[in-house]
Amino acid sequence: MPIKSRIRTIPHWPKKGIMFRDITTLLKDPVGLKICIDEFIKRYEKKDIDIVVGIDSRGFILGGAIAYLLGKGFVPVRKKGKLPAETEKEEYALEYGTDTIEIHKDAIEKGQKVLIIDDLIATGGTAVAAGKLVKKLGGIVVEFGFIVDLPDLGGRKKLEQHGYSVYAQTAFEGE
Ligand code: AMP
Repeated sequence: MPIKSRIRTIPHWPKKGIMFRDITTLLKDPVGLKICIDEFIKRYEKKDIDIVVGIDSRGFILGGAIAYLLGKGFVPVRKKGKLPAETEKEEYALEYGTDTIEIHKDAIEKGQKVLIIDDLIATGGTAVAAGKLVKKLGGIVVEFGFIVDLPDLGGRKKLEQHGYSVYAQTAFEGE
């Protein structure tokens, strides 16, 4: 398990009860980083993709590398208030309260095939909102790609129920 074994777990961070899956230990290892990015490229190099979207903020690290190697452009989906030009916004529920993510209105053209990347899928709230933003601009979501799936939190199922294809390199279940 070259990828999973390089991911560090920090119990009770950022709050009690959360098992934080820290991918910085994977990314700092040149072998780990290469295996991770190469696996994404192996999966996507033959797929019909026009553009890569990365979700704030770890999705930027992965999405940037993936877009570059696929020879495609990169688009950030950011937490609210960070993007300078006109944006589309999508609000989603958190455990307590709500959050909002944004995308530049001119970031994706109608009919473009979009790969959406983030480091981890937990409840799926962020990913579903990102999918809605892409659709608002007329983009077609080809797949969601993650390093880590946390099946106990149901995010992957939620995305699949929305009709999306989901890929994750590894999972932490019941641990
Ligand atoms: P969610 O919207 O619940 O799917 O949360 C996804 C986002 O929160 C991802 O961008 C992750 O980076 C972060 N996240 C949520 N839970 C964890 C966790 N247990 N370990 C690491 N990151 C997490």
